[in-house]
Amino acid sequence: MKLIILGAPGSGKGTTATVLREKYDLAHISTGDIFRANIKNGTELGIEAKSYIDKGALVPDSVTIRMVEDRLSQDDVKNGYILDGFPRTLAQAEALDEILAKNGSSIDAVLSIVVDDEIIKDRVSSRRVCEKCGASFNVRFKPTKVEGICDECGGNVIQRADDKAETVAARLKTYYENTKPLVDFYEARGLIVEGSNDRSSDECIAQIEDGLKAKGLI
Ligand code: AMP
Repeated sequence: MKLIILGAPGSGKGTTATVLREKYDLAHISTGDIFRANIKNGTELGIEAKSYIDKGALVPDSVTIRMVEDRLSQDDVKNGYILDGFPRTLAQAEALDEILAKNGSSIDAVLSIVVDDEIIKDRVSSRRVCEKCGASFNVRFKPTKVEGICDECGGNVIQRADDKAETVAARLKTYYENTKPLVDFYEARGLIVEGSNDRSSDECIAQIEDGLKAKGLI
């Protein structure tokens, strides 16, 4: 099963993708996570990406597309995958079609996570992530057992630099301008499966699973 997950920053894409990855044995490909790992390791790609990410802007398509093509050539995607944070522009969506077409492959469904903007701003400002394993927490809704320490791996739990209120506003603007049109792009192909994440992620995942069942994918 080859999936894309679309949604505004802080809509719960990562959490939803993590649940589906474990349940259906999919590779979870998060472009944000790949960029952050590169920034942490001080690679050339990381240095270039950081200047955009810190502003809440998008990393240029050419850089991002090359990185995803490389990731999709690795062995662990054979059983299927969930693309989280990619594509984010129409050009990326078209490039993805071309990359997949080379292997006679295509996307099976596009999960669209819908959340009210006010809820997003609120959630993102209290979001925290593990520096080491990427696990997601929230100081209000899902705190760590020990403050600042990851429940999963014992790593340091921090606030992402781009989760500050000013950057979140820029990221939401970027999302509405560049990424939201992709919902229509994939809707026209009948690929959209919607989940509402205003209330609970369990409810959202249940809606998504109903949609995937209706398409005969699970
Ligand atoms: P995320 O963790 O998905 O919210 O991504 C964090 C940041 O990484 C975004 O705000 C962008 O600056 C950058 N980024 C992630 N994925 C992409 C993409 N597909 N295209 C361009 N920039 C991206």
